[in-house]
Amino acid sequence: MADDLYFNKLESVVINPGFCVLCGSCSAFCNRISLDYDAGRPVLVKPCVKGCSNCYDHCPITTDFDGNRIFGNSPSDAVLGAVTEIKAVRATDPDAAGRGQDGGAVTAILAAALKRGKIDAAVVVERDSQWRPIPRIITSEDELYTSAGSKYSPSPNIEELGEIFRTLDLKSIAIVDVGCHIRAVRNLEFNLLYNAGFSPYSDLKIYTIGLFCSGSFGHGSLLNILKIEPSSVRKMDIAKGRFSIESDTVKTRPVKEFESAFLPSCPMCMDYGAELADLSVGSIASPKGYSTVIVRSLMGWGMLRDAVQLGFVEADASLVDKEALKKSIANKKKSAEKRIAAERAGKKAVPGFIQK
Ligand SMILES: Cc1cc2nc3c(=O)[nH]c(=O)nc-3n(C[C@H](O)[C@H](O)[C@H](O)COP(=O)(O)OP(=O)(O)OC[C@H]3O[C@@H](n4cnc5c(N)ncnc54)[C@H](O)[C@@H]3O)c2cc1C
Ligand code: SF4
Ligand code: SF4
Ligand code: SF4
Repeated sequence: MADDLYFNKLESVVINPGFCVLCGSCSAFCNRISLDYDAGRPVLVKPCVKGCSNCYDHCPITTDFDGNRIFGNSPSDAVLGAVTEIKAVRATDPDAAGRGQDGGAVTAILAAALKRGKIDAAVVVERDSQWRPIPRIITSEDELYTSAGSKYSPSPNIEELGEIFRTLDLKSIAIVDVGCHIRAVRNLEFNLLYNAGFSPYSDLKIYTIGLFCSGSFGHGSLLNILKIEPSSVRKMDIAKGRFSIESDTVKTRPVKEFESAFLPSCPMCMDYGAELADLSVGSIASPKGYSTVIVRSLMGWGMLRDAVQLGFVEADASLVDKEALKKSIANKKKSAEKRIAAERAGKKAVPGFIQK
């Protein structure tokens, strides 16, 4: 194949070096690409078109996104990024809180947005018995609760955006995802989707909820390292350097034992806090049973406000240990910088979106 075909370029700088984070953005908007989840890579199933560069341009590994395009002059912190408020949030319904990974905040905020009619649908992640993430478009509160809880492998949620674009007549949606995937959403939103008249300023409004993320595990690699039948696992969690696996008993192991299963991009990623999302949510820095929510934009502020007003969540800024939050984010950035420098020193490739 000719070298001027952009899928070839995507292959040589993203896919072959192993940097693909399985966001699904390339396969969502081109029927020549199919995502082979088990192989951990997109593959070309029909000839690539000369002159097109869509998959390459929107890939979060080739292309960075300037947050100023969304947040403009919003208050910003050198470590946290754009931030208007930070709160410890938990679902008020004990059932909903119990099903959640931490405080069940994400699910309750989505439920409130659906109830108020702010969104027509949400893109969320379910799982099969083997803990393989399954992206899903849901349109009602009832369908939402089976998606609660973290699955620690990448979920190609952006493929669902393609489905929404092609087949569904929706005006407003929310998508929940980790930071690198949110970067792909922004790349699409402000380029491909924008040009197709499908952006926050035209037909489709996209609310983004980012998850704090210190790393995501290749699904097959995680299963190999678990040392337990995955179908017996009820919950997985990472906290304070330990990976906990809850089945009939709760077993915890150092996260270090799992590090070899991280996607190769993760150790070089500085976006622990999902800095391009309207709301960013994680467990760190709030008491057990709460989620920490960083409000970054007016759209995020509105989502959290609706959830509080409808009584779906309670939110308390005084419970958040902001210094601990900053420390975690700063530590991840530092460790990523170190890793990038080491890769460069060894003349190895690093993901192209990393500028400095
Ligand atoms: C790979 C990964 C790594 C994480 N690392 C950290 C960390 O280091 N520190 C930290 O504080 N928090 C981390 N989190 C976030 C944390 O696990 C919780 O998701 C967050 O606190 C929200 O909890 P909740 O109870 O409010 O959400 P819930 O109400 O339980 O809702 C969870 C939401 O997450 C979505 N979801 C689940 N798995 C995935 C996935 N793989 N990709 C995209 N969306 C998904 C579900 O669709 C659901 O909407 C991580 C999450 C993931 C998926
Ligand atoms: S999006 Fe364009 S460049 Fe990428 S595979 Fe499809 S046709 Fe080729
Ligand atoms: S990171 Fe996303 S857009 Fe880039 S190659 Fe992988 S699936 Fe495609
Ligand atoms: S650590 Fe970064 S690259 Fe890895 S899954 Fe999380 S957000 Fe994406």
